[in-house]
Amino acid sequence: MLDALFNPRGVAVIGASSKELHIGNRVIKNLIDFGYKGGIYPINPKADEIRGIKAYKSILDVEGPVDVAHMVIPAKFTPMAFEDCGKKGVKHIIINSGGFSEIGPEGAAIEDAFMEVARKYHIRVLGPNCQGIINSDPEMRAYCNFTFTFPEPGHISIVALSGGVAEVIHQGFSAMGVGTRIYASNGNACDITIPELIRYLGDDDKTRVIVTYVEGLKDPSTFMEVATKVAAKKPVLAMKAGRTREGAQAAASHTGGLAKEDIATDLIFKKAGIVDFRDEGELINAAAAFASQPIPHGNRVGIITNTGGPAVIGTDILVDAGLELPPLSAKTEGRLKAQLFPEAAVHNPVDVLATGTAEHYRACLDAMMDDDHFDCVLVNFVTPFFVDNDSIAREIVAVSRQQRKPIVCNLMTDRRQWAETVRILQDGGVPCFALPGEAARALAALVRYHRIRSREAGRVKKDARVDANRAREIISEASRAGRQMLSAEEAYRILEAYRIPVAEWRMADTVEEAVSMAEEIGFPVVVKADSASVVHKSDMGGVAVNLEDVEAVRSAVQKMADQISADDLRFFIQKFMPGGTEIIMGARAEEGLGHALMFGLGGIFVEVLKDVVFNLTPVTDADAKEMLTRIKGAALLDGVRGRKGVDRAAIEALICRLSQLLGDLPAIKEMDLNPVLAFETGVFVVDARIAI
Ligand code: ADP
Ligand code: MG
Repeated sequence: MLDALFNPRGVAVIGASSKELHIGNRVIKNLIDFGYKGGIYPINPKADEIRGIKAYKSILDVEGPVDVAHMVIPAKFTPMAFEDCGKKGVKHIIINSGGFSEIGPEGAAIEDAFMEVARKYHIRVLGPNCQGIINSDPEMRAYCNFTFTFPEPGHISIVALSGGVAEVIHQGFSAMGVGTRIYASNGNACDITIPELIRYLGDDDKTRVIVTYVEGLKDPSTFMEVATKVAAKKPVLAMKAGRTREGAQAAASHTGGLAKEDIATDLIFKKAGIVDFRDEGELINAAAAFASQPIPHGNRVGIITNTGGPAVIGTDILVDAGLELPPLSAKTEGRLKAQLFPEAAVHNPVDVLATGTAEHYRACLDAMMDDDHFDCVLVNFVTPFFVDNDSIAREIVAVSRQQRKPIVCNLMTDRRQWAETVRILQDGGVPCFALPGEAARALAALVRYHRIRSREAGRVKKDARVDANRAREIISEASRAGRQMLSAEEAYRILEAYRIPVAEWRMADTVEEAVSMAEEIGFPVVVKADSASVVHKSDMGGVAVNLEDVEAVRSAVQKMADQISADDLRFFIQKFMPGGTEIIMGARAEEGLGHALMFGLGGIFVEVLKDVVFNLTPVTDADAKEMLTRIKGAALLDGVRGRKGVDRAAIEALICRLSQLLGDLPAIKEMDLNPVLAFETGVFVVDARIAI
C-alpha cells in the first residue's frame, strides 16, 4: 500500500519556491542533491524554473507520472490542491505545512476537508505538519523531506511522529557512520499511522531493524497488534517520552497531541516484544548493533581486551543486564595459551595485553566463535602506537563478516590519528563505541531481543465454570442505580462468581445479626464498616480484627455504629486469617485496551517501596509466572529467615482468574484487592473495592 510513497516515480512540490530558505525550495534541492532517480516537478504559477528544473503552473500540466506530491502551501488552499492531485492520479501527499489540527478546531476542520477529497481519489496522506520521508535505496534515493542529513544506505529504518526526534536519531547514525534505509516522520498523522508504517517496514526485506519514537498512542490496540507481529520477525526498538507529568505536558503542546502520563505504553511495548529504551543515545547505539550483527542465541558473553579497566566496566554493565561471563572451554584455553603471549590472561575476559597483535585478536575471536560457551563477544580495543592497529581492525571485520555470533566493539582511540583504523571498522560494519559502557549496553540490547524472542508465550486460561452473567447483572444493577463504587457485598459476589477464593464473610445490618453471623463463621472474626462514604476503613476506625468472642463482636459493632455516621452503614463480618503474607492486586482500565493488572507485595512494600508490577490483560499463565519473579521482593514469596513461603501457584491462578474477570467485565474501571493474604497453601482476598 505504501510502496509508491517510498518508491515514487515522480515527485511534485506544490508551493515550490524560488526563495532558498523556503521549504518549497529546500525539498527540491534535497531531491536533486541526494540523487533522486525519478522525475522532479516544481509547481508554481509564476516561476519558469526552480533550481534549474522546469516549473509547472499546475500539477495537471505535468506529463510524467507523479506518485508523491509535497504540499508547502497555506493550510486553507490544501483541499483545492488535493482536487488537482486527485485528477492527476497522485497516490500520496506529504503535507509539510502546519496550521492544521495542531492549532485547534479550525485547523482540524481543514484536515477533514482535504481528507474528504483524499478518500474520493484514494490518496493517502502523510502529515500534515510533518517532515516527510527518505528512502536511501541506491535504486531510488528519494529525499522527500526538508531536513539536512543525507544518509548512507543501510538497514535501519526510522519512524517517528516527532520530526525533531527522528532527526536526532538520524543524526546519531550519521555521526557514527551507520547507514539508514527508510525514514518517515508523520507529524499530525491524520491518515497514515505509525502502525501502518511499522507494518510496511516489517515487510521490507532490506530493513533489518526498526526504530520508533512515540509520545503516546492514538490507537493502542492496533499498535500492539502490528508491533507484536513485526517484532516477532525483526527487532523493533522504541522509546516513549513524556514519562513525567511535566514531560507529558510538554508533549501535549506539540504534534504528539495525545500524550499523557501513562504506564500503558510501556506495557504495550513489553507485551508486543518491543525492545524499549529510556535514553535516546542507548537506543541509537543498540540500533547500530542490530543493523550489522546477528541476534545472539543466548546471554553468554566472551570479552577480549588489550587493557584491563575498560573490560571491568563492561563486565559490570553486562552482568547487571543479566548476561553471563562463563569461563573459557578447556579447548579454547589450550588454544589461546599456545597462541597468545605467555603473560596474557587466558580466562574470560581474555587480556591479550597492550602489545597483543592482530594474530592474537584473531586467535581469540576464532576461538570464541568456535567455543559453545559463548553466544556473543565484546571487544575492547585501545590503539597503542606500537602495534599494527589497522591489521587488528581488519581481523575484527573479517570475523564479524562471518556473522556467526554478534560482535560489539569498544574502540578507544583518537579518531583523527587513527582515522584509518576507525574507517576499516566502520566500513566493515563493526558496531564501534567510544565508551566501554556504551558497547556493553548495545550488546546487552541484542541479548534483550533474543530473550524477548525466545520467551514463552503461555496460554490465556479460561475457567468455563465462572458465572459471567451473574457478575454482569451485579454491575448493571449498580450502574442503573447510578453508583460508581460497588458495595463490599457486590464486590465479593463478583469475585465469587469467578471462583476467586475470598475469606468467608457475611453482611449484617444490626448488632445482633453481626453476632449470629460471627458465630456461623466461627471465631476469631473481623468486623468492617461498609458504606459508600468510607474508603479507607481502618483510617476511620472501621476495621476490628481478631475478635475472639460474641462480646468482642458486639462492642466492636457498637463502637463503629457510634463513630461512623453514615445512612448506608452496614457491617461486614469476615473470618480472621492471621499469619499470611500481604499481597496487593489491582486493575485499571486503559483507554482503547483492556486493563492494566497489578501485582505486588502489600503493606509497607507497596506504600514505601512501590514494589508492584503491571501487565496488560489478557494475562497468560506464563505472564503471571513472570510477574511473580519481576517484583523486587520476589525472594519473600519463597520465605526468608523463618518466614514461610507462599503458594505461588495459587497466586498465579488468581492473576489468571482476575484477567478473565476483567476481560469479561470491561465496565470495571478500577479494582483493588488489598490485601490478598497468601499462605503456604492457598490465597484469600480479604479486602475488595471495585469501581465501575
Ligand atoms: P482498609 O484497607 O479499608 O483499611 P482492610 O479490609 O484492608 O481495610 O483491613 C485493614 C487491614 O486489616 C488489612 O490490611 C489486613 O492487614 C487486616 N485484615 C483485614 N481483614 C483481615 C482478615 N480477614 N484476616 C486477617 N487480617 C485482616
Ligand atoms: Mg485494604
